[in-house]
Amino acid sequence: MKDNNIYMGCHLSSTGGFRAMGETALSIGANTFAFFTRNPRGGKAKDIVPEDAAALCEMLRAEKFGKLVAHAPYTLNPCSAKESVREFAFMAMSDDMIRMESVPGNYYNFHPGSHVGQGVEKGIKQIAELLNRILRPEQTTTVLLETMAGKGSEVGSRFEEIREILDRVELSDKMGVCLDTCHVSDAGYDIAADPDKVLAEFDKVIGLEKLKALHVNDSMNPLGSHKDRHARIGEGTLGCEAIRRIVHHPKLAGLPCILETPNELDGYAKEIKMLK
Ligand code: FE
Ligand code: FE
Ligand code: ZN
Repeated sequence: MKDNNIYMGCHLSSTGGFRAMGETALSIGANTFAFFTRNPRGGKAKDIVPEDAAALCEMLRAEKFGKLVAHAPYTLNPCSAKESVREFAFMAMSDDMIRMESVPGNYYNFHPGSHVGQGVEKGIKQIAELLNRILRPEQTTTVLLETMAGKGSEVGSRFEEIREILDRVELSDKMGVCLDTCHVSDAGYDIAADPDKVLAEFDKVIGLEKLKALHVNDSMNPLGSHKDRHARIGEGTLGCEAIRRIVHHPKLAGLPCILETPNELDGYAKEIKMLK
């Protein structure tokens, strides 16, 4: 059965643990959220307290949350030219797969990475290799590739690149895509002016059934700028109306919508209210 609810939330700090994130989410009118699985820059992870994770799971059920969208650290680069960097991504992501099972059945999003001059084909191969090493048939987490702005040598700014990665992953039912509205616009897909066309393109190249989550951001830069600077909703080049159209698009119903705009909690609360 199709879920037609609107699930909106934002990126939350995980400093206080799982239950605290659930409570913060409720306090700002959110019914989903994102969090870093470990320090976004350093890569270190805190120990998980099982009772704390269980308390969040209970809250998610009771309050009818949508799927959560955890985020891998920014510093991981699965397609670095350096083997030690790729190996670090492997170690962090394998550990994250185990950690995610303390909140079963949710999403884990990551940036495909930057090929740093190795070429996009080589990058795609390395990303898929890493995924084939970390995915397990018994896991309940779905891993999402995030659509990127195409800054520097980022892989994943074209839907074709995402499709190529997905094609090379063996456990394909463990994989999905997270579409970032700022990133796709920066990548050159005019999602603000013509969301139907961009979604039709996504469907043709990747398949809309693979789209599992949205990152809802305005952009400081124009279409095709390849910059990746998020703006608050309505303060960027996409605009509030366009973003509202995307969030309420019938083809995107039921997907968790995560704000990653430059805001504090009260700003997120306002944006959630405005977009719902
Ligand atoms: Fe991201
Ligand atoms: Fe994002
Ligand atoms: Zn971004």
